[in-house]
Amino acid sequence: MLYICPTPIGNLEDITIRVLNTLKEVDYIACEDTRHTIKLLNHYDIKNKLVSVHEHNEFVKADSIITDLQNGLNIALVSDAGMPGIQDPGKILIEAAIEKNLEFTVLPGPCAFVTAAIGSGIVEEEFTFVGFVSRKTKERKLVLEAHKTYKGELIFYESPHRIKDLLEDILDVLGNRKVVLAREISKKFETYVRKNVSELLTFLEEKPAKGELVLIVEGNKEVIEFEFTDFDIENLIKSRLEEKYSKKDAVRLVSKELKISKNRVYEIAMNIKYQGD
Ligand code: SAM
Repeated sequence: MLYICPTPIGNLEDITIRVLNTLKEVDYIACEDTRHTIKLLNHYDIKNKLVSVHEHNEFVKADSIITDLQNGLNIALVSDAGMPGIQDPGKILIEAAIEKNLEFTVLPGPCAFVTAAIGSGIVEEEFTFVGFVSRKTKERKLVLEAHKTYKGELIFYESPHRIKDLLEDILDVLGNRKVVLAREISKKFETYVRKNVSELLTFLEEKPAKGELVLIVEGNKEVIEFEFTDFDIENLIKSRLEEKYSKKDAVRLVSKELKISKNRVYEIAMNIKYQGD
């Protein structure tokens, strides 16, 4: 069995009992950097073998790990921090396990973007995790262009020395949107800076960003009221009524789902006859 084990993104106490037990019990732990993971093991007095799976040898190592799994070994995969596979090695091994029909399980746990999304206070139901973007402005701008009309929030990972370039491109392509910069989550200097893009750029001139960063950018909130026909709206209200919502709740839900005014939905709802009336 392969166990994908999330580890702390800062505070060493952010680890589940199940992950700790798994790290103790497996035959060995595949990790990114043994010098990093050993600190976690020492902290919890876990004595187990560490095998390094660096990004550049991930393919080779995946093969030998798969062979070990086929031979019946239990192996845990960890990355330096957070959830393996999220902008970290992991995917190749999981793909190989699926292809070879080997059992694996992903243990729930810390992940920087999920924590930052909640802490930002601006992420609604829908968002996109973009992760690290290209270092090249042209490619970065293409990615931003692709998300320009997307209404959900966009979540980026970025290093302190490239955050300014990313923000400048965001200002250029997406406009002066609301942003939240989550810094050093779960660590001593955890901060959430809530500004718009140009304010954040000025702020960073005075106080350059340090440490690990997640940037959350508000989605495109331009309300396109008449993108939906009355017929579309009526059908959606009817679906909610069939789901046994009251007319009042159906209006509230549909207005939220389509991001259109309650008044417009209410007017359409008033003309619908249904048995609950
Ligand atoms: N696998 C990790 C996860 O589940 O979030 C992400 C690993 S990726 C190589 C490292 C990036 O994640 C950092 O550059 C930063 O953008 C983000 N990150 C990781 N830990 C963080 C923290 N404590 N605070 C803010 N961002 C963090």
